[in-house]
Amino acid sequence: MSLYGNGFAAMAHAVTPGPATNDGPTPVAFEQALDTYEPVLGLETHIELGTASKMFCSCSTVFGAEPNTQVCPVCLAFPGSLPVVNEKAVEGAIRLGLALNCSVAPWGRFARKNYFYPDMPKNYQISQYDEPICVDGHLDVTVDTPDGPREFRVEIERVHMEEDTGKSSHVGGSTGRIHGASHSNVDYNRAGIPLLEIVTKPIAGAGELAPLVARAYAAELRDLTRSLGISDVRMEEGSMRCDVNVSINERGASEWGTRSETKNVNSLRSVERAVRSEIERQAGVLGAGERVVQETRHFQENLGRSTSGRSKEEAQDYRYFPDPDLVPVAPSAEWVEQLRTTLPELPAAKRARVKAEWGLNDTELRDLVNADAIDVVEATVTQGASSKEARKLWLNELSRRATEQEVELSSLNITPAQVARVIALVSEGTLTNKLARQVVEGVLAGEGEPDDVVEARGLKVVSDDGALGAAVDEAIANDPDAADKVRGGKVAAAGALVGAVMKATRGQADAGRARELILEKLGAS
Ligand SMILES: [Zn+2]
Repeated sequence: MSLYGNGFAAMAHAVTPGPATNDGPTPVAFEQALDTYEPVLGLETHIELGTASKMFCSCSTVFGAEPNTQVCPVCLAFPGSLPVVNEKAVEGAIRLGLALNCSVAPWGRFARKNYFYPDMPKNYQISQYDEPICVDGHLDVTVDTPDGPREFRVEIERVHMEEDTGKSSHVGGSTGRIHGASHSNVDYNRAGIPLLEIVTKPIAGAGELAPLVARAYAAELRDLTRSLGISDVRMEEGSMRCDVNVSINERGASEWGTRSETKNVNSLRSVERAVRSEIERQAGVLGAGERVVQETRHFQENLGRSTSGRSKEEAQDYRYFPDPDLVPVAPSAEWVEQLRTTLPELPAAKRARVKAEWGLNDTELRDLVNADAIDVVEATVTQGASSKEARKLWLNELSRRATEQEVELSSLNITPAQVARVIALVSEGTLTNKLARQVVEGVLAGEGEPDDVVEARGLKVVSDDGALGAAVDEAIANDPDAADKVRGGKVAAAGALVGAVMKATRGQADAGRARELILEKLGAS
């Protein structure tokens, strides 16, 4: 507690966050920490809704516009301007709540959350406090264990609506942080973009699986949200970000420990690492006879652990009160039921269905899920490919390309229809698997449809006897020894001649037909 009281200290730190210097006692290795302590998690996830306009005004939400061009008196908080709730955002909140098995509150008000940030023009954020729109749900997640997949139920405390802040950038320093900067710019285009915050109840009992449960929850919530079409949920672009709460207590203790909150973790891998490293850090603190401080922390991607931020505000520091400028949100039961009918097949149901339809075992399903490939494979199957061939191409060649380009499979420059066409060309014998990879390469490089690439690059399998016959004759003439062996009955020697034909045709020959021709011409068939 500072001289000025917690609230003021938080405010001062928010303006000039200092570099973390106190690393504390040496962390304890994860397995060893778990021998003594039991972790309890909580996740608070912010999801930016993909509505066309902002939460309380009609400004556009399109990303990447010139700074401060998507603003108006409402989102700049000019005196006398009045906010109006975006119906589409409420609809998105209710649909997500229903998909998370929540109850939808029949009546609730927005609240003002008061704190000062230079990128928040109102000096308060419109949020929901004690009257959230959705409460008491759950989301089942699956984690891999050495004994096979294991399911955990994560209880959802609430889903509430709020607005995003603007964005500050610090100019003149080497790090892009406020330290060393000569001045700061503020862009209010993001101010007022609708956000949903999804808060779990404490997750206890996961033990050593806690980091994996946290990751699986974030992945499942992302997939669920995406299936609803209410957000693009791209963690790397910040449209979904997780605050990860962790505490540990001695095994069998009746009370939970003091928690820390690691803010704005923005990849699934980092969610897992943030939980793991925080368990190790807190075990080190407790092991050294010190107390865990309730604070916010920042996850450092490059270090693989978090550093200390500021001491955590309590709810009373925010001076919440109902926003008098907004009417209460009171969704009718009829509307809620109508929205329930708009829910699509949710990811868990879809996984169970494709597992059965495609005859997958647990490992095959897991590979598809981990590669985030179910939707693209299904779309490829819809275009006529077999699920086996579609899975093979998406999980091998295309996954490799996506990793190289650091994009998701669905962002690759090839459509499921094009992938299905490549598969069809292979199964009808026009392409070998090797040629198919070249066609894929051409499509990804923007050379057109698969058939165009085959034509332009001359990739067809050579199987007509005229072209193939010439290559065979040449191979026989160039390797009389092998030819004699085949004539003498050593059919295995034909392999060398087939190899020569393949080489001469740059892999485009139909190897089976080439072998037949060789044997015919040498009188060995
Ligand atoms: Zn506006």
